[in-house]
Amino acid sequence: MGGSFIARTRNRVVLKVGREESLHGEIARLAQELCVACARLHARGLLSGVEGNLSVRLSNGDLLVTPSGADKATLSPNTVMRLHADGTLRHAAGTITDSARDTAHRPSSEVGMHVGCYAARPDARAVIHAHPPVATGFATAGCPIPADVLPEVPVVIGPIALVPYARPGTPALAEAMQPFLADHEVFLLANHGVTVLGTSLSDAMLRMESVEQAARIVLVARLLGGEQRLSTVEASALSALRLSNATSVTFGTIARRTYSAGVSPEGLT
Ligand SMILES: [Zn+2]
Repeated sequence: MGGSFIARTRNRVVLKVGREESLHGEIARLAQELCVACARLHARGLLSGVEGNLSVRLSNGDLLVTPSGADKATLSPNTVMRLHADGTLRHAAGTITDSARDTAHRPSSEVGMHVGCYAARPDARAVIHAHPPVATGFATAGCPIPADVLPEVPVVIGPIALVPYARPGTPALAEAMQPFLADHEVFLLANHGVTVLGTSLSDAMLRMESVEQAARIVLVARLLGGEQRLSTVEASALSALRLSNATSVTFGTIARRTYSAGVSPEGLT
């Protein structure tokens, strides 16, 4: 009897410590992932200098966000900001276990856009905003990336919204995106850049890379005389494939892939 009590007590202690470590561990892991994603976006030319901003939603609803004006190539986890769900500052991720605040950094000026995305999409766990040059070129020209040319677009990327221009860093940008948030995960922001949603940072990262890759291919096809469109039947079948739970390529399941896995969704190579 006594042994059982001790065992139960130990279990409670272990579980309590486990929960505390889990939150701290989650923040440390995701702050690190955020920096890895920034470095990868920078290395691939999808953002440069201090451009772009990334965020991830913690399991308790708080957000980790890149700091304003930071060089994404060399971002440190200690400079990642932790915000409440409404975008107000909680503290720097590196100070989660104490009361100190890192006052040397401010959250990204696009926090409002990130907060608006999370509020509208409970399934979104990551938001990435970058300036990939070719996809941003499509946005700047007001040209949609067609959904009936490359299978990856309807199957992996999904519908791509063309969002009218709104000044960066202002509430107008979140408002401009609002009508598209319910049924899109990719947003071409006119005269500005691209924003994507994901169920994880890796999901959002892969989606951002796929959008830029699709834009490059379509651009080259147009330089060579114009893309050949898929048949209506095939385009419809591909769209249905994305919505099928059996394909493992829906919005929620791509997230299980990792940066390094190099895995293509089933059915695509
Ligand atoms: Zn931007």
